[in-house]
Amino acid sequence: CGICGVVGHRPATPIIFEGLRRLEYRGYDSSGIATVEHGRLACCRAAGKLDNLKNALENTPLAGTTGIGHTRWATHGAPTTNNAHPHRVGQVAIVHNGIIENFADLKNALEAKGRTFKTETDSEAVAHLLDEYMQQGMSPKEAAFATIRQLQGAYAIGMIFEGHDNLLIGARHGAPLAIGYGEGEMFLGSDSLALAPLSNRITYLEDGDWCVLTQDHVEILDGQGKVVERPVQTASLTT
Ligand code: GLU
Repeated sequence: CGICGVVGHRPATPIIFEGLRRLEYRGYDSSGIATVEHGRLACCRAAGKLDNLKNALENTPLAGTTGIGHTRWATHGAPTTNNAHPHRVGQVAIVHNGIIENFADLKNALEAKGRTFKTETDSEAVAHLLDEYMQQGMSPKEAAFATIRQLQGAYAIGMIFEGHDNLLIGARHGAPLAIGYGEGEMFLGSDSLALAPLSNRITYLEDGDWCVLTQDHVEILDGQGKVVERPVQTASLTT
């Protein structure tokens, strides 16, 4: 239901957690955060309120300056900890808002390749597909583009990658996603509220857009993979 992500130079988990707090108003049934630290992905998830995630994070602290967080409103699969996002598969971790309409076809094809699904969500197909392309030797950017071209339905997605501390990729189609610009750090959020205290320069992605964020750079591409310019809006800092 809500997404908050950062690629930066400060500990990512507190930034993301506060972003998820500001997204609570949308409603949710579970939540989670994944980070990449010294190239290694780690993930922490919890059913129920954000306080449950907070407790889980005390037992499993997540270091790293790049990460993604999610508040889930379940559409496919019960609101359990195991179905909560992020979904970590192999070299990738993803968060997803929306519904992947063709997830059953994707899942069948990926299972035929020997992959085993661990959750009941539609979203897990995105993680497997992305990891499959990584396994085939694509770069994260190539794998992200190959993945989103396969997806039907509504989505806002955040992706991070094993071995890539300075990379956060986002994509949207039929669900909102915005970029917040910082100094040596970039943010991804479902709306300006998620980003409000972090940045007052915001770009709303258009339908079909995806973005490649590093600490110092933002690249926005359209559904054809062409680099595009989107307006940067200056938001007021009132929340
Ligand atoms: N369809 C996904 C799920 O049920 C994402 C739901 C959401 O937008 O939070 O896990």
